[in-house]
Amino acid sequence: MTFASLGLIDPLLRALDALDYKTPTPVQSQAIPAVLKGRDLMAAAQTGTGKTAGFALPLLQRLSLAGQVAPNSVRALILVPTRELAEQVHESFRVYGQHLPLRTLAAYGGVSINPQMMRLRKGVDVLVATPGRLLDLFRQNAVRFEQVETLVLDEADRMLDLGFARELNELFAMLPQRRQTLLFSATFSETIRELSRVLLRDPLSIEV
Ligand code: AMP
Repeated sequence: MTFASLGLIDPLLRALDALDYKTPTPVQSQAIPAVLKGRDLMAAAQTGTGKTAGFALPLLQRLSLAGQVAPNSVRALILVPTRELAEQVHESFRVYGQHLPLRTLAAYGGVSINPQMMRLRKGVDVLVATPGRLLDLFRQNAVRFEQVETLVLDEADRMLDLGFARELNELFAMLPQRRQTLLFSATFSETIRELSRVLLRDPLSIEV
């Protein structure tokens, strides 16, 4: 199995070559073709399985093939529990997407909101954010959600453990109904299953 055989385009394959990624991990070989087709996904995958590339690569490809972002808008919204994960996931999008003309941003609390607001003015193709800071940005009219094509919940169980349920529900209510949704969680509690029933439409289930 190769990344090329999964249908990834040349600019992404070149980035993967430079990183010396030779073969897709199991979560990648299952997730990439499904996400490229626009399918919803529910994946039980821990850190270390390669899950980040499993969603970042196909999303970068979809974003690069169609559409243009409007001012203050976002096309792919990645929600993560912590600022460290936001930095890490954003860095993955940046490196994998280095040969594509896409705008990306990480937004999290504990740092000044102004630079994040400035970066959002032209819009971003990919926004990796923690729920609290994203709501702050929304309340300050720095971000709009009408253009969101894809929502990713990364480490959904940790977001709930950290008490983000209220923020998440507030955000979900503002997103377009017609969108692609991907949910990643290390564990699948009854609460996560309930969340996936509400958020996902005919999802592919992946367990690795
Ligand atoms: P993740 O599970 O997304 O946190 O990724 C774990 C680590 O595996 C990261 O440091 C990635 O750079 C690396 N990685 C992801 N996919 C591959 C791959 N197909 N081949 C080699 N390394 C990979």
